Amino acid sequence: MKKCNTCRNEIPKSRKSTATHCSDACYYTAKKARSKRRYATIKAPDTEIKRCEHILAHLFEVSTTLKKSVNIHDLETYKFNFGISTGEHKDEKKGICKIVGKYAYYIHPDKNLTIWKLK
Ligand SMILES: [Zn+2]
Repeated sequence: MKKCNTCRNEIPKSRKSTATHCSDACYYTAKKARSKRRYATIKAPDTEIKRCEHILAHLFEVSTTLKKSVNIHDLETYKFNFGISTGEHKDEKKGICKIVGKYAYYIHPDKNLTIWKLK
């Protein structure tokens, strides 16, 4: 006997053989949950970009105000997401610099980091 995906009750034989829910109510509950999840996944990258932009903003302050050098380990400490960027900038000498919101960063071969604030 097949079970309802929402409430785990048995699906009555009166429902279609392909039915995954015991009633229309359960079907719509599941559908609503699905669209909510979809909304959450669209929303996620935006907050993730904000979070990473914040990390760059902080390290930018550290490197400019405190004149401390920052490196890739500082990013890792803050669990920076290297997979995201809002754009790329190709520097003549350095190569590809990644942009996250108002900040751009470049990782040197020695793992040191240069961060710029974009205007
Ligand atoms: Zn059900």
